Amino acid sequence: THDPKSPVGHNRESRLFYQSRSRRPLIERSEGVYMWDVDGKRYIDASSGAMVSNIGHSDPRVIAAMTKQLEKASFAYRLHFENDAAEDLAIRLADRAPGDLERVFFVSGGSEAVESCIKLARQYALAKGQAQRTKIISRFPSYHGATLGALAITGYTPMHAPFAPMMVDQPKIPAPTCYLDRDDLSDHDRGIKYANMLEAEIIKQGPETVLGFIMEPVGGAATGALVAPDSYYGRIREICDQYGILLIYDEVMTGAGRTGKYFAAEHWGIVPDILAVSKGLAAGYAPLGAMIAPDRIVGPVLDHGGFIHGYTYAGNPLACAAGNGVLDVIEEDNLLENASTNGAALKDELTKMADDFAMIGDVRGKGLLLAIELVKDRDSMEPIDPKHMAAARLVDIAYDMGLIIYWRRTRGGYRGDHVMVCPPMTITKEQFADILVPLRKALS
Ligand code: PMP
Repeated sequence: THDPKSPVGHNRESRLFYQSRSRRPLIERSEGVYMWDVDGKRYIDASSGAMVSNIGHSDPRVIAAMTKQLEKASFAYRLHFENDAAEDLAIRLADRAPGDLERVFFVSGGSEAVESCIKLARQYALAKGQAQRTKIISRFPSYHGATLGALAITGYTPMHAPFAPMMVDQPKIPAPTCYLDRDDLSDHDRGIKYANMLEAEIIKQGPETVLGFIMEPVGGAATGALVAPDSYYGRIREICDQYGILLIYDEVMTGAGRTGKYFAAEHWGIVPDILAVSKGLAAGYAPLGAMIAPDRIVGPVLDHGGFIHGYTYAGNPLACAAGNGVLDVIEEDNLLENASTNGAALKDELTKMADDFAMIGDVRGKGLLLAIELVKDRDSMEPIDPKHMAAARLVDIAYDMGLIIYWRRTRGGYRGDHVMVCPPMTITKEQFADILVPLRKALS
């Protein structure tokens, strides 16, 4: 009853288009940091899905908020009706967003949020009479989304090849992989060195042709929770200001509390010009994302008759009710504080584990966005497997033991081989053992 190209790992018919031959068990239920498959096997979700389920699974308060909305109005199309859930959530997000970022454009996911940032940036340049500004510089490696625009600025070159020549090849600069550097520079100087690569690229491209620079404040799965030295962030802001280039923060993964602040930009006091958020915004209870921008950008675009398209499900009441419910839980349960303190404690535990495993080359991250990098040895920092598949193998072994950690293949150029350890922000210190014991076993 199924295509032989899609071997089923469970006994039921499937007509889904699976892109991978490895199949996973069917999920039966989830609660807090745990999930159970149909055979009753328990997993600890130490990756929060793909860094999505920030407040844990099946929180009754979010379910109640969504149920209440469903009973009121199940759907209201944005061109026909406004809705309180979207208005309320937009106000709450604007309150939490850095600086003057106050205008919220809802979408249904991270790729759509990034896509909207690109479009708004472009419309802004047109409104200012700068039609020649078309390029968005990004970093390599990086991941910004699967839609064609977001993919074009994603620093995973082999992912582009099948779609060329539909896609414009956008310029990229190296991500700040300072932990691999063997020079004598101070941390501060290294941060400046990597940030200055942006200036060099802007000059190379011709400053008048550059529209924006996009970066994740803490790298996601492409780099494994890469944090730059503090000096990097301010210098990047300075360069963008100097050349009149929009600074876009992709906080799809870092936003909504994962790093211990509601937006990671707050750690360095940076106000980007445009920000994308998704994943933790509705924390897996509904598909939701947002672009947040200041009136100083949105105003001229609207005055100029600009338009960045809308999506059918944008700002739908159910997804926004989920977003409001999630934000209530973050506040009621003080989850930012938890992400910060328990994130630091979990990072300490992983760092201690590195004492016993020479193959752990680096432990890094901020809050509960953490990663460990697997290497042959710490001197060379070469990956164990040149194809970067050691992390994949670790993830599989851990999975069999009921521990879910996250891995994405880093293709082409970057030699990192890492796994993300990113449990929900509700994780308690008592639950650490459910992660650390199987992780230690899996590493062995
Ligand atoms: N940007 C970042 C930083 C991401 O981590 C992701 C998803 N991994 C995306 C964009 C794309 O989001 P989505 O998969 O929801 O479209």
